[in-house]
Amino acid sequence: MSNSGTLYTVSAPSGAGKTSLVKALIDTLSDVQVSISHTTRAMRPGEEDGVNYHFVSQDTFQDMLAKGAFLEHAEVFGNWYGTSQAWVENTLANGGDVILEIDWQGAQQVKRLMPHTQGIFILPPSQTALRQRLTGRGQDDDSIIDGRMAEAVSEMSHYVEADFILINDDFDEALIDFAAILRGQRLQQGKQQQRHKTLLQELLK
Ligand code: 5GP
Repeated sequence: MSNSGTLYTVSAPSGAGKTSLVKALIDTLSDVQVSISHTTRAMRPGEEDGVNYHFVSQDTFQDMLAKGAFLEHAEVFGNWYGTSQAWVENTLANGGDVILEIDWQGAQQVKRLMPHTQGIFILPPSQTALRQRLTGRGQDDDSIIDGRMAEAVSEMSHYVEADFILINDDFDEALIDFAAILRGQRLQQGKQQQRHKTLLQELLK
């Protein structure tokens, strides 16, 4: 594919700050977009259809799945999630980088289908910090927090499948590291040949 962007999967346990980091990255770096997944999960307060997710019924999701609309899909905590194949392919073909905020199951599927995909895993600085983040407003009892911790540990065990690890201790530093990954990829010879084709021809005249 000529002039194509790079595809990234970004995975993390709940509480690692993935969504905030991705949002901050999009605000600081140009030519990168986040895919908006389809999900059967109910909308949470503050969420917007078409912004956080495309919220769809089970029937619509199954219909899209049958039509091959998803690049990857997975059931996470009892709800279905899927990434639009057409949107990802079009955005990459137009030269933009694409971020998929998806769980480890989805990241595995995408890496298998598109081996040039760069997998990024975001981790918290400690179990204590993660537990604090998962405790939130302190309205949930210990058994619920324990359950969330167990889910987080299970998700984190998949860090070994990623190409890059970001530790989100200091947010600003994690953001610099995140941007460095994308900037570094863009400097690869093949990518620079695409971007600076005319210059490179000019320099070798
Ligand atoms: P939440 O419902 O809390 O927004 O997300 C729950 C989990 O589903 C997170 O780990 C999130 O990364 C993952 N997720 C969101 N969208 C997708 C998707 O399109 N595909 C996959 N495989 N996972 C997703």
